[in-house]
Amino acid sequence: MAQRGVKINLILFSAVMLALAACNTGTKTETNNSNNNETKAPPAPTFNADSSFDYVKAQTDFGPRIPNSTAQAKCADWLSSTMKKFADTVIVQCFQTRGFDGKTLNGKNIISSFNPSKGNRIMLCSHWDSRPFADQDSVRKNEPIDGANDGASGVGILIEVARQLSITKPDLGVDIIFFDIEDYGQPENSSYPDMDDSYCLGSQYWSQNLHTPNYFARYGILLDMVGATNATFTQEGTSIRYAENVTGMVWKTAGDLGYGSYFLTEKTNPIVDDHYYINQIAQIKCTDIIHYDYNTPSHFWKHWHTHGDTIDKIDKNSLKAVGQTLLQVLFNDLSY
Ligand SMILES: [Zn+2]
Repeated sequence: MAQRGVKINLILFSAVMLALAACNTGTKTETNNSNNNETKAPPAPTFNADSSFDYVKAQTDFGPRIPNSTAQAKCADWLSSTMKKFADTVIVQCFQTRGFDGKTLNGKNIISSFNPSKGNRIMLCSHWDSRPFADQDSVRKNEPIDGANDGASGVGILIEVARQLSITKPDLGVDIIFFDIEDYGQPENSSYPDMDDSYCLGSQYWSQNLHTPNYFARYGILLDMVGATNATFTQEGTSIRYAENVTGMVWKTAGDLGYGSYFLTEKTNPIVDDHYYINQIAQIKCTDIIHYDYNTPSHFWKHWHTHGDTIDKIDKNSLKAVGQTLLQVLFNDLSY
């Protein structure tokens, strides 16, 4: 995803948001093995990168997950049915919104919760749609991309995190949110009138229409383009502006685990990604783990918004670095 180098505009939300209403709720019986005598955080479970990779590939196997497509519908069903195996509740938040091109877009945000009655909550999120255009490519610019890294990688990590939580059942309130229609943003050379806030339509909708009234999380962590070989994640400016302590905590946890070559403490310019709207509208302190490339003009990953964003670019070592860091963050929180 995302936009880099755009000025942050406080006159927001020009996107036309239509139709609210959660369209589908699934629950399963909650079990709880929490041990009230525990005073120290237990060790985090081992993140399985092979399993995570399979979850990334399962998404790309549907084809590009673009709004109003069959692949979008099938992948949404697969995501919600998979998460129902692991989480206590799964809510599919259906919405309609309008793209920069005037099209009415049907979206589904998929919200999976562990220990949903707990008031003290942590939110993990990623976008699950893929970009309908390859505007950064030199060929087939108007065709959609696979989005193996830009979308599917973060979701694949979070599904494996959910699977681990279903096994170990820590006494934590955790919400895992898959946002739709993040990547329908207006291309730079678009012939349509300029539209502000054309990216992140699903997270803008969710931030304005929380899936449960008065929903709040103590902090949030967003994943975006987290699966490429030798990925590097800097501390970007929007995360620092709104969630400096969260950013520092996540990056320190990664460093303590030996993943300092992925999580660089260097600070880089702010970007607009789902976390911007989560911070600005929902007012949940949310940091963004997103690939920063020192060698590209955009400073995004070299295959960003091109047909090169395919499953063969996904590296299990990167999935492991991010996924194990998330599990450790969660289990450290048990002693909070
Ligand atoms: Zn993108």
